[in-house]
Amino acid sequence: MMITCDRCGYEGEGEEFRMIGNVMCCGPLVFRECPSCKNPVICDRQEMREDIEDTARDISRRIEAAIHCGDAAQARELLKDLSFLNQCLNLDAINDYVREKKREVSRMERASTAP
Ligand SMILES: [Zn+2]
Repeated sequence: MMITCDRCGYEGEGEEFRMIGNVMCCGPLVFRECPSCKNPVICDRQEMREDIEDTARDISRRIEAAIHCGDAAQARELLKDLSFLNQCLNLDAINDYVREKKREVSRMERASTAP
């Protein structure tokens, strides 16, 4: 992915531009720093969408595995990661999935702490 700085015109690979942070907490845009003039450059994460979707699928598989093993803490961590990822995907299906799995994990936790 090539990025062009809109201030100095420096053009480079995405890795050369250090990631500074999100433009909005839940938006699809990220700030990157131009290595030449330190100008913050806004990049659209659309091109990364496929990668993010792959990662989301991978995480949901690990959530299933964690629930299967009864590892509630691990499942909770993974659900947190998945909802964070969904900030760039904004998929209702993932929101529903996270909500449903959280309920499942809560039930597991209650069952494991019951005398
Ligand atoms: Zn620049």
